[in-house]
Amino acid sequence: MTKKENPPATGKLTGVKGMNDVMPPESAAVEWLESRVRSLMARYAYRNIRTPIVERTPLFVRGLGEVTDIVEKEMYSFEDRLNGDPLTLRPEATAGVVRAVVEHSMLYEGGKRLYYIGPMFRHERPQRGRYRQFDQIGAEALGFGGAEVDAELILLAVALWKDVGLTDVRLELNSLGQPQERAAHRQALIVYFEQHLELLDEDAKRRLHSNPLRILDTKNPAMQALVEAAPRPLDYLGRESLAHFNMLKEILDANGVTYTVNPRLVRGMDYYNLTVFEFTTDRLGSQGTVCAGGRYDYLVEQLGGKPAPAVGWALGVDRVLELIKEQCLGVIEPTLDAYAIVSDATALPMVLQTLQTLRSMGISVQMHASVAGSMGSMKSQFKRADSSKARHALIFGTDEVEKNLVTVKSLREGSGEQVTRSIAEIADWASTLQSIPLN
Ligand code: ATP
Ligand code: MG
Repeated sequence: MTKKENPPATGKLTGVKGMNDVMPPESAAVEWLESRVRSLMARYAYRNIRTPIVERTPLFVRGLGEVTDIVEKEMYSFEDRLNGDPLTLRPEATAGVVRAVVEHSMLYEGGKRLYYIGPMFRHERPQRGRYRQFDQIGAEALGFGGAEVDAELILLAVALWKDVGLTDVRLELNSLGQPQERAAHRQALIVYFEQHLELLDEDAKRRLHSNPLRILDTKNPAMQALVEAAPRPLDYLGRESLAHFNMLKEILDANGVTYTVNPRLVRGMDYYNLTVFEFTTDRLGSQGTVCAGGRYDYLVEQLGGKPAPAVGWALGVDRVLELIKEQCLGVIEPTLDAYAIVSDATALPMVLQTLQTLRSMGISVQMHASVAGSMGSMKSQFKRADSSKARHALIFGTDEVEKNLVTVKSLREGSGEQVTRSIAEIADWASTLQSIPLN
């Protein structure tokens, strides 16, 4: 029995363990990364897909494989209270994307390139870089079988590292082969591990006959030497699978992408075949994989669609952000053009109208608002204006308002300079202001 904590009936409530709040100013970094991703995806012709956070549980059991960490122990599953449907908070998005693509018959008119950004849920032990709710960005290309699309996806990720300024990210590649080759390799693995039963941990013993490939993915240091010497999927590749792998490497070489072939690389989900890859870093301790993916040519038919090859990757937003922080990369924080100071509440209708005009011109303005009915002293409003880091204060003082004027005071460059102008002309002032874009 796991210990259950009862939430207190009164007093302060806390969030769920392993599920984090992202507050400003840190949230600016997330928005910044997302906006870089969206613009990059557009350049590679990947379109956004948004699938629900909740899916039917069998989608993951069938899609990811019963004998995987995720399905065995990491899913947040529950029954729909009204009709008893088994449901699960998505632990990853590929299965849901495939479900949606099949459900909407999207592949009839050719392949589709898609990307998503959103939260995933896994019941893991929370630690640095490992949370129970975490964001992933993913790219999937469905309906394409050639190695050039594997390459395109890898080049897209490489372009993203460059775009956000990350340098210490390494690429590892492997090929798992096609089902028949995998079956031969699997047989060899079972024979090999059976010869070393005494060295297997409990997990490995349990998986020996159900999913021996997973043993290669073990994080148990005591088993590393054993796994090192185990039969390698690469040695079981046939001519076509080898050609696919070689083509991928050739394209990456031509593009100056450095990588290492890691013959031990397998992935956590059963659906992969042929190409698998991971981008890793040494900077994040043991949670060093920032992006991972590969080919899953059989998932579409496994989930009831007409057979279609596919390939994709998913990136851990939290880990990439930590890297960005670690490398002190200059995330552009949103800045404010102006802070509106209002001495008398009776002027508010006019003030809001004026600010509305400014904002429609792309100027960012924070309005001073009353607390418990009082606007506060001018002094305290100026303090707020300063700490907002706005470039200008727009002062709607009693004198100004009476004459339909507003004073614009510079708070940063040329600090202290001020001009008073008519409210009717505020748009002229605004058009001379070069607004700093949010990202
Ligand atoms: P790991 O071996 O680190 O558990 P995984 O194989 O389970 O990773 P994937 O399912 O391939 O990871 O997910 C892709 C990426 O999502 C990972 O490389 C990682 O950056 C991120 N990720 C996975 N699980 C978590 C988590 N619990 N918290 C934060 N990020 C995660
Ligand atoms: Mg995992």
